[in-house]
Amino acid sequence: MALKVDRDLCTGCGLCAQLCPEAFEIGDDGYSHVIPGADESLPCVDEAIDQCPVGAISR
Ligand code: SF4
Repeated sequence: MALKVDRDLCTGCGLCAQLCPEAFEIGDDGYSHVIPGADESLPCVDEAIDQCPVGAISR
């Protein structure tokens, strides 16, 4: 399974990048992106998945 952000759902609120800057960043397009090579097993990744207000993050 690969960690991904559904850009059709993401609002660019920035919460995931705040909670887990090791794995998510807000791109120039204003939406969240998974940082290439990020450690998907980090606990903060689960936190971001749980707390994304629109459920845009999955793996
Ligand atoms: S928390 Fe969800 S809606 Fe907010 S930037 Fe991250 S993926 Fe997008």
